Amino acid sequence: MPETLAVEMRCDIQIPTWFGVGGRADRLARPRTLEQLVQCVESDPDCRILGDGANLLVADTGVRELVVSLDAMRDVSYEANGVVRVAAGAKLHRLVQETAARGLAGLHTLAGVPASIGGAVAMNAGGKHGSTYDHLVELTTIDRRGVVHTEPARAFAACYRDGGLGDRIVAGAAFRLVPDDPAALRARVKAIMLEKKHTQPLAADSAGCVFKNPVLQEAIAGVGRAGQRVGAGLLIDRAGCKGWAVGGASVSQRHANFITVDKKQANAANIIELIERVGVAVRERFGITLHTEVVIWGAS
Ligand SMILES: Cc1cc2nc3c(=O)[nH]c(=O)nc-3n(C[C@H](O)[C@H](O)[C@H](O)COP(=O)(O)OP(=O)(O)OC[C@H]3O[C@@H](n4cnc5c(N)ncnc54)[C@H](O)[C@@H]3O)c2cc1C
Repeated sequence: MPETLAVEMRCDIQIPTWFGVGGRADRLARPRTLEQLVQCVESDPDCRILGDGANLLVADTGVRELVVSLDAMRDVSYEANGVVRVAAGAKLHRLVQETAARGLAGLHTLAGVPASIGGAVAMNAGGKHGSTYDHLVELTTIDRRGVVHTEPARAFAACYRDGGLGDRIVAGAAFRLVPDDPAALRARVKAIMLEKKHTQPLAADSAGCVFKNPVLQEAIAGVGRAGQRVGAGLLIDRAGCKGWAVGGASVSQRHANFITVDKKQANAANIIELIERVGVAVRERFGITLHTEVVIWGAS
């Protein structure tokens, strides 16, 4: 990277993730502007983009490519027509609270999803109350040659837990939100958070759901009908994996699709081995191959 580039750069640094374990980055850049982000991409087209690290597992061997953290790109601006423009590093949970308080409905459905805006778009994060693309109208992305594109969100083939970006990097997003009663929105946010607290092990270190919920190819008694998307947690539970542990990583008793870690005991290899064992158990029990929702960097 050229000397003149004033991008903050750290060397040999632990990559911060919600698991709290895993490998290091040889180099981690923190661009503050779109221009600096473009320069990072030009300097290493294979760079890896770090959002809030809430859906990420880094192998213990770490990452050789440049890791680009977007946490310093957080600008948010509101337009009179209900459009909110957000830089990719802004935290989703702050935006959920802020838009609810301003009486703007849409993002409140994403309460309790830890993410940067870029990470939420990349994963089309969401759940039964709504998904990131529901109110997304425009994206500013950077391709791997460093070219900036601003396009309508419908140009991307987003689907369940996949923003359809390919290898594009989200630099910014615009959402069109709908006027609503702030008190009602805040109550809705609170209710969703409460519901999550009851069903998910939120106090423990995890990356949320490890596997994507699969669509059944054929009916399974007590699980679902053919064509239905069913909870991976239900399949994992029925396969008898709740409580399974490898080193300091265990399958949560509260929600079987969560792997929680004891940071003092666990390493990334424990989590990867547990993911593999659970996958095998579900395949043997139901003939279903689960696919990981958690993104794993650096595993062979
Ligand atoms: C307690 C807990 C609860 C959770 N609940 C939910 C839930 O209800 N619903 C849900 O969908 N998810 C949930 N998750 C998972 C996580 O919140 C989402 O996947 C979220 O979208 C991750 O965003 P992030 O910014 O942390 O991305 P990261 O974890 O940093 O990155 C994930 C992937 O996105 C890519 N990425 C990040 N930023 C960008 C960008 N700007 N441009 C291009 N690619 C990018 C990364 O390279 C990586 O491949 C939960 C996680 C936890 C820990």
